[in-house]
Parts: sequence; C-alpha cells; structure tokens
Amino acid sequence: PLVLGIETSCDETGVGIVRGHTLLADAVASSVEEHARFGGVVPEVASRAHLEAMVPTIERACETAGVRLADIDAVAVTHGPGLAGALLVGVASAKALAFGLGKPLYGVNHLAAHVAVDQLEHGALPEPCIAMLVSGGHSSLLRVTDVASNEGVVPMGSTIDDAAGEAFDKVARLLGLPFPGGPHIDRAAREGDTVAIDFPRGLTSRRDLERHRFDFSFSGLKTAVARWVEACERSGEPVPVNDVAASFQEAVCDVLVRKALDAAASEGIDDLLIGGGVAANSRLRGLAEERAAKLGIRVRVPRPGLCTDNGAMVAALGAEMVARGRMPSSLDLPADSSLPVTSVLAG
Ligand code: ATP
Ligand code: MG
Ligand code: FE
Repeated sequence: PLVLGIETSCDETGVGIVRGHTLLADAVASSVEEHARFGGVVPEVASRAHLEAMVPTIERACETAGVRLADIDAVAVTHGPGLAGALLVGVASAKALAFGLGKPLYGVNHLAAHVAVDQLEHGALPEPCIAMLVSGGHSSLLRVTDVASNEGVVPMGSTIDDAAGEAFDKVARLLGLPFPGGPHIDRAAREGDTVAIDFPRGLTSRRDLERHRFDFSFSGLKTAVARWVEACERSGEPVPVNDVAASFQEAVCDVLVRKALDAAASEGIDDLLIGGGVAANSRLRGLAEERAAKLGIRVRVPRPGLCTDNGAMVAALGAEMVARGRMPSSLDLPADSSLPVTSVLAG
C-alpha cells in the first residue's frame, strides 16, 4: 500500500510517503532555528510553524515520490505523545486529507514509529526484538512482539528522571554548545578523551539493579557534569569541553548499551533495535555494535536521518497497520500529548 505519514509532535513538520517497506519521500521542515535562542522548543512557535509548513511539505513529499494525493491508499499521523498544539496541527491535517480523499486514517504512536522506521532501511522488523527507544522526551526498553498492536509493545523499563536526549541537551547547554545539543556533543566528543573524567553510571549499583534493572537515570550524571564544570570555572581553569563531552557521552552510552543487552539476554532475544533521536549518536551506535557482536546479538539502528523526527517513520508504521489488517482510526481521533507507549494504534 502507498501510505502518507504526517509527523508534528515537536518541532519537525514531517511528511513521508512509503510503499510497504520502501521509502519514496521524506520531507522535513524544522522550526529548530526559531527555538534555538530560547534554548528549548517553544510550543506556540512550533504550532504556528507547523501550520505554515504543512501544505508545502505535503506538496514537496508528493513531488519527490512522484505520486499524486489521489494515489495514496491510507493516511497515518502521530496523534501522541508530544506537544498538544503541535500534534493538533498534524491530526487536523491528516483528518482533512483522509476525509477529502475518502481513504482510511491511522492515528499512530510516535514512539512505536521511532521503532517501525527501521524497516525502511533494513526490511521487515525482527519480531520479537528488544527495542531501545532513546529520544528527547523518552528513554525506554521495550519488548516488541508486534509493533503494530497495543499488546505487542511491552515496556521493560524506562528513565526515572531525565530522558537521554534531554541529558545531552542540558549538558550541551552547560558547555556552551547550541541547542539541540546531541549532535554538538557527538562532534566535540570525537576530539575528547572518554576516560578523562569518571562520571557516574546511573542505576547500575547492585542495590539499584534489584529494583531498577532495566530503568535509567540521567539526572545524577547531569548534576555531576554541572559540579565538575563549576569547579573548573572556580579554579579559573578553562573547561576542557571535548573531554567533558566525551566522558559524559561515554557514561550515557555505556549504561544504555549495558542495559539493552541485559534486556535481550534476560528475554533470550537475539535482536536489538535502537531508535529515537539519540540513536543518531555515533558512539552509541559503535559501542552497541561492538558489545553485541561479542554476545551474538544483532543490532539494527536506522541511519541518523531516520532516527530524529520525520514523517517517514509515521508512514512506515501506518503501512504496517494496513499490511497487518488493523482497523483504521475514527475521524474523531484526538491528539493525546501523554499517550503511553503501549497505545500503538488509536481506535
Ligand atoms: P520524543 O521522541 O521523545 O517525543 P523528540 O521527538 O523531541 O522526543 P527526537 O527528535 O526523537 O526527540 O530526538 C531529539 C533528541 O535527540 C534531542 O535531545 C537531540 O539532542 C538528540 N540527538 C540528536 N542527534 C544526536 C546525536 N548525534 N547524539 C546524541 N543525541 C542526539
Ligand atoms: Mg526535533
Ligand atoms: Fe521523536
């Protein structure tokens, strides 16, 4: 089926078009530069930018894919989680398209879409698999038996405080790097020493593992970086930005990979999939590959451009809904800013 997917949960207006597992177009307009001077995404600004970008982005996607709207078999849209006003723009647009074209509408979960997108690059998802979702607002380990059903995505653990991407963004700010900080830390870390500073690995002590084996915590790490930078400044020393970035990034990636592989081992599952914006991180990708290979676990990570928010991921999950014969959503579909990861498809 030819599926058009719309993504507006945060600051990217994304429109993707797929045919089955084949990516035909992935048009993204971002308002990130409008938010940069505020150091974070401003909801009102994001909503207005989505409104302005929606129609041109749909047109650009159709042009790239070489299809007309009338050719589309189904429309998929992120209806949560995310910023309420931003989600509403995508949901209203998708409803109008589906209604106007007389085609089914699928309201899908943004987080499950971060997982499903991998099939556009590596083919049918391995199911069951362990999916590690690491993004700006979430960090979770999921057991996925059916990415297109509400029963098929089961959380094993998640962050008890900050998300991994949030930690990257906050630490980047401490180091005077621009927003969003993830890519800047990634770059700075390449010139730094990963063992220069011994930053804490959250929830990895024997005692913490008893209650939080598959959970994450990054706020202690963020505070440790803040203290370290302050101490540097007090002593009048220049902050060794590259070393701090590399040591911080190592602490995050070490814990993520350790727990993801432990989750796979505990379930006897040989496939690990990593998705979400932080999956674009070069060290996370490298470390996961390296350690998984030793354990005979296969790792799949989409290319960086498919890890951060885009419309193709929504189209990919929508195509899976169609292929697996799922019931379309109602045209009353609401936007749900706090949609749980277990609610993959809206009724
Ligand atoms: P969610 O998916 O939880 O709703 P979101 O949609 O805002 O959150 P994504 O677009 O999936 O988040 O991811 C954005 C996050 O990814 C930001 O925190 C950003 O800093 C981080 N990120 C992007 N590239 C990298 C990278 N190379 N290294 C580390 N983090 C990165
Ligand atoms: Mg973004
Ligand atoms: Fe996202």
